[in-house]
Amino acid sequence: MSQQTPDDCLFCKIVAGDIPSERVAESERSIAFRDISPAAPIHVLVVPRRHEPTVGALAHASADDLADVFRLAQQVAEQEGVADANRMIVNTGSDAGQTIFHAHVHVLAGARFTEGRMV
Ligand code: AMP
Ligand code: ZN
Repeated sequence: MSQQTPDDCLFCKIVAGDIPSERVAESERSIAFRDISPAAPIHVLVVPRRHEPTVGALAHASADDLADVFRLAQQVAEQEGVADANRMIVNTGSDAGQTIFHAHVHVLAGARFTEGRMV
């Protein structure tokens, strides 16, 4: 799996404020901002401030950071009025569509997702 160091990581730069993003929520441990190329009317990324390449690595590194990412994702869903109709997605590995190797959760909503199928 390819990995990026924090110096070479787009989401670390967004966390630091060196690259602009449309932030919609933040906590001490995580930030949430709109995806630059939305796949649904509501598409927000929730990322830990700490750099870990995948959500699985984050789970091993810090249960508190992992929990906070999902807590903030739920806060975003509530803020956006889609707490009862959203899809949270985690891609792990380039074969599964991961393009940024800084852990993140996609919060998608506002579209009618395919029923009865995961993908
Ligand atoms: P993934 O494919 O799961 O690694 O998701 C990475 C996501 O980051 C994609 O949905 C991209 O559209 C999104 N993305 C890439 N660059 C930016 C950026 N500068 N600001 C916001 N979202 C971005
Ligand atoms: Zn990073």
